[in-house]
Amino acid sequence: MAESPQDRAAFLREELQRHERLYYGEAKPEISDRDFDRLMAELAAIEEEHPELRTADSPTQRVGGEPTEGFEQVEHTPPMLSLDNTYDQEELEEWFGRLTRLLPDTGFEFICELKVDGVSLSLLYEDRVLTQAATRGNGRVGDLVTANARTIRTLPLRLPAAAPARLLVRAETYMRRSAFAALNEERAAAGQELYANPRNTTAGTVRLLDSRDVARRRLDLACYEWVQPAGDSGERRPSHGESLAALADLGLPVNDSWRRCKGLGEVVAYCAEWQEKRGELDFEIDGVVVKVDDPELRDRLGATAKAPRWAVAFKFEAEQAETVVQAINAQVGRTGAVTPVAELEPVLVAGTTVKRATLHNYEDLARKDVRVGDAVVIEKGGDIIPKVVSVFEDRRGPESTPFAPPTECPVCGEKLYQPEEEALLRCVNAACPAVVREAIRHFASRNAMDIEGMGDWLVGELVGGGLVRDPADLYGLTVDQLADLKKTNDARLGEKAAARTVASLAESKERSLSRLIYALGIRFVGDSTAALLARRFRTVDGLAAASAEELEEVDEIGARIAESVRAFFDSERNQDLLRRLKEAGLEFEEEAAAAESEDGDGPLEGKTFVLTGTLEGMTRNEAGTRIKALGGKVTGSVSSRTDFLVAGEKAGSKLRKAEQLGVEVLDEAGLEELLAGERAGLG
Ligand code: AMP
Ligand code: ZN
Repeated sequence: MAESPQDRAAFLREELQRHERLYYGEAKPEISDRDFDRLMAELAAIEEEHPELRTADSPTQRVGGEPTEGFEQVEHTPPMLSLDNTYDQEELEEWFGRLTRLLPDTGFEFICELKVDGVSLSLLYEDRVLTQAATRGNGRVGDLVTANARTIRTLPLRLPAAAPARLLVRAETYMRRSAFAALNEERAAAGQELYANPRNTTAGTVRLLDSRDVARRRLDLACYEWVQPAGDSGERRPSHGESLAALADLGLPVNDSWRRCKGLGEVVAYCAEWQEKRGELDFEIDGVVVKVDDPELRDRLGATAKAPRWAVAFKFEAEQAETVVQAINAQVGRTGAVTPVAELEPVLVAGTTVKRATLHNYEDLARKDVRVGDAVVIEKGGDIIPKVVSVFEDRRGPESTPFAPPTECPVCGEKLYQPEEEALLRCVNAACPAVVREAIRHFASRNAMDIEGMGDWLVGELVGGGLVRDPADLYGLTVDQLADLKKTNDARLGEKAAARTVASLAESKERSLSRLIYALGIRFVGDSTAALLARRFRTVDGLAAASAEELEEVDEIGARIAESVRAFFDSERNQDLLRRLKEAGLEFEEEAAAAESEDGDGPLEGKTFVLTGTLEGMTRNEAGTRIKALGGKVTGSVSSRTDFLVAGEKAGSKLRKAEQLGVEVLDEAGLEELLAGERAGLG
């Protein structure tokens, strides 16, 4: 009797999942790779013909799907905090001392784990199916990278029946040294530039827009934290060690090198042991994470804004290596600061090829007396740029001469200026192409105005060719101007790419006030400070009018920032820039909508929306803002708790899922109706 496609698909899914487990989980494959691929191809063919049979947990999703245009964002609850660092035994003792001061007469047990050096992900299983994977982002809001995460072979797409209905787990995705080496070999064979290290490659991979490319990169995963629901039920909650064991029982990958340690002595021994053995691992670790085991004690210790008090990272010593300085180049930054960079003979440090090292500034360089041709020791610690720590002066040849700092800007030729009390040299030419280029790059960057297509090449062309002298010029660019830019001698950028960039520029006009403030590149104003300023002053004009005293009244804003903000708005050049940005139609006011949504009341209160596909009359961003303005919530993926799916043109998997789950689907007209309050029966 012929099997129905539905039954066959279900069978194949089960079979493939079983073989995946055998292969990746237990390293005991029962069938050849070839047969595995055959089963996979058969399932893919069935799903191709019957798209309704394609489920979120189908193994075919591991090979990646259609590219996306960008990532949706999700909020992390609870936030993904950072960890406080310690670097030696003394600092560990201090941390332990703090715990015992906070909770005297308490016996602490700790779980020590390897600190895998990758990229953290927050994974959500709903009804046992992986429905969301998000990057840490700024800790409170991250990018939804679910399709990319599904390609991680060791990550189960579905959990066994023993799993709770909802499970939130935090994990590190990383690339094994072996996978990284294989990737670089492939690239070398193809004549492509090599990747620098597994960690950065992982970070880049997780954020690729085409999940099929992610699938080829072979990321791996280590789960380290089961985020338990708040403990108000009176039930005994599992200790951290128990929860790690439970995660592993559910088939989630947990690195099994963790150990329960009683007291600080055992913790110190664990750290020392792994500092010694780290080279034996097929992946990079940059330290150990020490965590309090007991959930009650964790609750009582709590967290600071930045990190939990119940955990600490013990960072390994930076790794050092010897190499030779081939050249010392000058680099011009966004603020015109000129800094020396050592170009090195490439050298392997802790599994990473290092080709450049920072020399901080010319004073530092002179103090260390680093010269071209010198043999030096470089050091790489965490994610900081490698630095030159010392010089072998005795190995110099007779022709060696001290390095002379530049007197002119290497980019524009302007005479460099040495501000008093600063160790830096500066190019004060505000029109210096290097300065403008960096300013534009910053303005267009992801956390700022997030302008797609505005990569290094394009910015270089626009600034180099004199089309753009400041960010306001971007908004005057036309498709024709961009399309004509020459990528190579015989290839132009082209209409399509040009139109996309112009559209993205137009879209960027709607970015929030806090992004705009950040994008301006005011010294000392990072994205969180920008958010504070936006919240307090509400408009660009309000901020521009604020006195230094008023600025300093804002929590977390000190004299240094206040002064820098004042100086920025006092500059006539900047006033002109702002005037032109305003004329271009950028968002100069904090939308009332955004403020209201925090309170979450309005006619759509309690309603959850998901937006998908292309809308005609508004962007998805706009739609989201309007929904939030009325008290609704917008999330990234469809689940049984979604109230409405707003589906535009070319809606895909989300629409299918909504239909499967019986979620109400609105088209654009339906949404308009709802937003206009013309629809009865809500609430
Ligand atoms: P940091 O980024 O230095 O503040 O360290 C925090 C990061 O360490 C987390 O966001 C994770 O990405 C990473 N990490 C790696 N292994 C672990 C672990 N076992 N427990 C907690 N965090 C870990
Ligand atoms: Zn210059």
